[in-house]
Amino acid sequence: MARLDLRRKLSVLADAAKYDASCSSSGTSKRNSVGGKGIGSTEGMGICHAYTPDGRCISLLKILLTNFCIYDCAYCINRVSSNVERGRFDVDEVVDLTLNFYKRNYIEGLFLSSGIIRSGDYTMEQLVLVAKTLREVHDFRGYIHLKLIPEADPKLVEMAGLYADRLSANIELPRDEALARLAPQKDVGVIKKAMSQVRLGVEAAKPAKREKIKPPKFAPGGQSTQLIIGADGAPDTEILDRSASLYGGYGLRRVYYSAFSPIPDSSSILPLSKPPLMREHRLYQADWLMRFYGFSAPEIGEGASNGMLDLAVDPKLAWALNKREQFPVDVNRAPREMLLRVPGLGVKAVDRIVSVRRYRTLRLEDVGRLTRSVAKIRPFITALDWTPGGLTDAADLKARVTSRTPEQLSLF
Ligand code: SF4
Repeated sequence: MARLDLRRKLSVLADAAKYDASCSSSGTSKRNSVGGKGIGSTEGMGICHAYTPDGRCISLLKILLTNFCIYDCAYCINRVSSNVERGRFDVDEVVDLTLNFYKRNYIEGLFLSSGIIRSGDYTMEQLVLVAKTLREVHDFRGYIHLKLIPEADPKLVEMAGLYADRLSANIELPRDEALARLAPQKDVGVIKKAMSQVRLGVEAAKPAKREKIKPPKFAPGGQSTQLIIGADGAPDTEILDRSASLYGGYGLRRVYYSAFSPIPDSSSILPLSKPPLMREHRLYQADWLMRFYGFSAPEIGEGASNGMLDLAVDPKLAWALNKREQFPVDVNRAPREMLLRVPGLGVKAVDRIVSVRRYRTLRLEDVGRLTRSVAKIRPFITALDWTPGGLTDAADLKARVTSRTPEQLSLF
């Protein structure tokens, strides 16, 4: 087999990594190289991101160590039976690329994953070695996200946590039964065990309040995972239930949703077409509601139809349209939790309302100043000078709040 030059490897292994959505530089601890110490920083903009034509957000140095893999996961382009060009970096090549790209200001960090070569232990060792070399030999202080190989020895997971800002093991499919069918060499129990180890490591690394000796750092950016949408027939409500249990059970920072992309020569057990990208977007919105707006997964499901989120409206509006009896909400008296449920009111606007109403009674125009569009909010609130009357229960309310065509903003 012909050896690839570095440029070609980079092209192959960056392309192979784009299917993994579980990258983000958020949530880690602050480090920098101010004063000439070390190289890199996790501050400012975080890692650079680029957007692929299909809308996925990727970091500029988001690569696989190799796209060779001994596993045969039906949904993966890198599976052993896939007929794709293969490449493999060695550890020093990844280290050099990271440092050189960093120095050229192309990237703010590294997202490194890998196909499984030889064994889980060997692959994880190689990933850890990249991070260890960057940190210990080059004093690299930028962001590092390492993919966990769940089958690897727990000692390697422990080492990964010492060097990486964030770790992620992908659950991949919302249904365990589907994972067993489509990825026969993977074991959801083993993946969950690795996630539990990371959770315990992260918790143990949090210093107790009065403790003077800080415990060693362990994945300060926590852990994340990815769920592939549309490959196994799981409806949105099931996906959200799964996410809720992952957040609760493993303390995840993020669940990423990746719309299934049909791959060349794919298995006949997979769907032929990809789900609409809007489905991925609605799931992210619903996920946001669970993490920041106090919604539970079953509550979001109340706005769904046959388990699927409405693609035409955002999940908060869908919920409100289905729960009209809870509205209108008095912006001058309602508890914060209920204000957070008003379509069109974000966390910042709600906090501002709660703060301002201590001093004066709010009118509709006051609320309008805090939001992008008061038209969406009006049917769901009352204010000093406003009550929606029958609007809240209007049969055509959904059409009314969604029919506005976007207007091009004037530059002047
Ligand atoms: S183990 Fe990972 S890289 Fe290998 S086939 Fe499965 S999903 Fe793809």
